[in-house]
This record gives sequence, structure tokens and C-alpha cells, in this order.
Amino acid sequence: MAMSDVIERGLLIGGNSVPASSGKFADDIAPWDGEIYARVAAGTPADITRAADAAEAAFPSWSTMGAFERREIFLRAADVMAKRGEAAIAALARETGASRVFSQFNLAFCIQVLREAAAAITRPAGELLATSIPGAYSMAQRIPLGVVGAISPWNAPLVLGMRSIAIPLAVGNTVVMKPSEDAPITCGLLLADVLAEAGLPAGVLNVVTNDLADAGDVVAALIADPRVRNVNFTGSTNVGRIIGVQAAQHLKPAVLELGGKNPLIILEDADPDLAVDAAVFGAFMNSGQICMSTDRIIIHESLVEAFIPRYVERIKALPCGDPADAATIVGPLINRRGAQHVSALVKDAAAKGASLLTGDGSIEGPNGTLIRPVVLTEVTTDMDIFGSEIFGPATVIHPVGSAEAAIDLANDTEYGLTGGVISRDLGAALDVVSRVRSGIIHINDQGIADEPMAPFGGVKNSGYGKFGGTAGIESFTEQRWVTIQPSGRPTYPF
Ligand code: NAD
Repeated sequence: MAMSDVIERGLLIGGNSVPASSGKFADDIAPWDGEIYARVAAGTPADITRAADAAEAAFPSWSTMGAFERREIFLRAADVMAKRGEAAIAALARETGASRVFSQFNLAFCIQVLREAAAAITRPAGELLATSIPGAYSMAQRIPLGVVGAISPWNAPLVLGMRSIAIPLAVGNTVVMKPSEDAPITCGLLLADVLAEAGLPAGVLNVVTNDLADAGDVVAALIADPRVRNVNFTGSTNVGRIIGVQAAQHLKPAVLELGGKNPLIILEDADPDLAVDAAVFGAFMNSGQICMSTDRIIIHESLVEAFIPRYVERIKALPCGDPADAATIVGPLINRRGAQHVSALVKDAAAKGASLLTGDGSIEGPNGTLIRPVVLTEVTTDMDIFGSEIFGPATVIHPVGSAEAAIDLANDTEYGLTGGVISRDLGAALDVVSRVRSGIIHINDQGIADEPMAPFGGVKNSGYGKFGGTAGIESFTEQRWVTIQPSGRPTYPF
């Protein structure tokens, strides 16, 4: 790619594109061929302070803007996003290696996140309470927090970037956003462009991009800034733990949406066709790089013969390669580090006796980021892949002898994000649902699903707090008790 084709962007602070205080840029690398896709300003802790200044200054007028005026901005943004859809899909393929089918899902869902944010603006925002004082009014108002810090990952950028800002903004907060170094455009600046075109006032959303080497310092400054009242973080459990500790030090609430080790439980009486379809999609959508991806297929042993050969045949046929090809399903991993992580898990398992039913974890592709789909079985607890989040195009099949054993294995993990249960017996499926510990679970479906009306979030080391639905609104507002006594309190004791 000619240098002139490389996108160059500054930080977005107070409605202006500005250079980083360091004067430096960070390269944003295209995963498929390793070329530079964009150069973005490498923000610093001082830039976080400037962004928080702008967000704080914008808060009074944004938080008091009339509901219809604010709602129009989100509805227009949904239309702008749709209008820019093809450009966004091309950007996703280039910046993150996403397949066309996953990019389309990202786009459609991002638009719905904006429409749901618009709807949130005209929902009731409080409660009228009982009171012991005759004639008085006692209210629990829901009010915005002030400035919200939003830190997001690269793996479903339009969805996760928009999710980190849409409801926080809609309910009246202003935001300082720090998108992933692997997707600063599609997870940050592209979303800000859409909202700006829709009329979001300057300073309401500020975007500070950064170099990976500075991520710790930039995020620490964001959490420590006294104007920032709440942080939301979507990303790995390791980084989430750092953020949770720092937020606690500063007595700030955090929403942490972290990793998963999601099971697809296939019970004895499951429809094998449905099980195969669900498992192919669940494990290999976005090359397995979704927090909700199926890491583990836990199947009753009586179905193994009906399931495994058909599953493996389908996996072998998945088109792999360049994400610019609309037929590609399994594209590159996000970077060489990601590919090396998956390869090492597969090779460790193979060396310790796992069976590889297809694939071997070899790294290919022009940039060393492509791994062809891998299906493993005979995986035991001494193998790293047993407990680690794979986050790539590999999945493990665990045959079990009973529903009881399936539940025990599903719960034998530090994570608890999502999962699926396939069964024709609704009673049996509901019993599994009630005993698997996860924030989300689906019957007759696998784990990948999201709707902005639903409470999304994990338990255990998959994090805490919710995006989506009423719980999502509560995450980014606080309750304030207000009383009104029309003519003063009737009696004081002295
Ligand atoms: P990551 O944790 O490496 O990065 C996420 C964010 O953290 C980025 O913005 C990055 O700059 C920042 N960061 C990195 N190092 C940091 C440090 N030392 N201190 C502070 N911040 C730092 O995660 P990723 O690779 O971008 O995303 C993949 C992970 O995210 C997977 O574990 C996946 O399961 C998880 N995820 C969870 C959800 C969910 O909703 N639960 C959704 C998508 C992804």
C-alpha cells in the first residue's frame, strides 16, 4: 500500500482533531498482509487530562438538552451508520481481518445499539416513592454520572465500541473513549465521525488513541482523573483485573466485560443437524475471536458418531484466507501474537496426547496470522487449552456420559460468560440452564447472540456489571433521592 493511502488521524478532543502531546503516532497494522492501515496519534496521560477537560466542559449543556433533540441525534446517527455501511465493512476487513458475514452483523447490530440508545432517552427515568410525610413527594431520580471512561477491544469494533459509548451518552453523560490499538478507526474514530455527522455537540465524545506500549499509563490516567466518575471496560480478564483494582482504589464503579470459555452442551436427545449447525457457527464466526465463541463442545457420548464426522467435514470446508474475499469465513487472527497464542495452545495439547480431528495449529498467511480451523478431542486437564480462553479458530470436543457430567464440566472453569444447550427435551435443557453458572445461556442455540434490550454480562472471571436493557441504563446513571414538601416540613422536634 502506498504511504498516501494510509489513513492518518489525530485525537478527537473538544470536537477538534489534534496531535498527541508527544507528537508521536502509533501504527495500526492490517492483520492479513501486515501493511500499515492507519497511523493514529499516540495519546498520553496529558492528553487524557485534555480530553477530560473537554468532556467536563460539555457536560452541563449535554446533560440538560431536551429529550427530543438528544434522541434525534441518535436516530440520525443510526441512519448515517447505515449510509456508511459498505465503507465500514471494508474498513473492518482491512483493520481487523473480519469476514464479510461478521462485518455485516457488526454493522446491523451497531445500528440497533444506536436506535436502542435513542429509545432509552424517552424512557421513564425514576420512581415516585412512598413517604411518611403527608403531602410530600419523594422521588428516586436517575441522573447521569458526569464523565464516563470507555475502554474497548478490537474484536467486534462497531458493536463493542458503540456499546461502550451509546447508552452512557444517551442518558446524559459525556465520554472519554480509549479504543483498542488494533482497531482505533473502526472501534473509535469512525464511530465518533458518525455521531459528529449526526450532530453530537463538540466535547461530548472525545477519543484518545494510543500506542500499545502506553496503554497502562493512559488507562491509569483515565481512571484516576477526578472528573471521570465511572469506567467501562471490555477486554481480557487479565487487563480487566488491573482496571477493576484501579477503579476500586479511586472508589469508582466499573463495568467489566471480560473473557469466556463458553460451552455448547449437546444433550442425549439433541437434534444432530441443529447441533452441527450451531457448533460450526458458534466456534468459527469471526475466526473464533468473539468473547461468546464456543470454546468447548460438551456432547453426550451416544451422539458422538452422529456428530463428529459431519462436524469435521463442515469445518474442513470453511473457506479460509483473505478477508477481502466475500466468501472467506476464517480470516487471519488480529496479529501475530494472537496467532502464536492459538498455535501454542494447539501444539501443547497435541504434544500431551490430544487428537487433532482437523488442522494442526500451523501458522500461515502473508503476515503469519492465518490458522486453519482446528478441532481437538481427548483433551485433558493438564493441557493449557483445557482452561485457557482459545480466542481463535479452534474448538475442543468433550464427550460425556450424562447431563450431570456435562454440567460439572461446563462449570469447571474460571469463566462464566455465555453458553448454549441443545435438546429436544425442554425440561432437561432448563435443568441444565439452572445449574450452569454463566451470565447468559441459550436453549437450542450456541452462545453468540446479543440484543441491546438484553442484560449482557458475565459472572466469575468473565466480569461484572451489565450493558444493555434496564440494567445497562442503571450502569451509567445513579439514583438520587429528592423530596419536595409543598409548604415545608410540618414539625421539627426543636
Ligand atoms: P485486551 O484486554 O488486550 O485489550 C482491551 C483494552 O485494554 C484495549 O483498549 C487495550 O489498550 C487495553 N489495555 C491493554 N493492556 C492494558 C494495560 N496493561 N492496562 C490497561 N489497559 C490495557 O483485550 P483484546 O485482545 O483487545 O480483546 C480480547 C479479549 O476481550 C478476549 O479475552 C475477549 O473474550 C474479551 N472480550 C469480552 C467481551 C465481553 O463482552 N465480555 C467482548 C469482547 C471481547
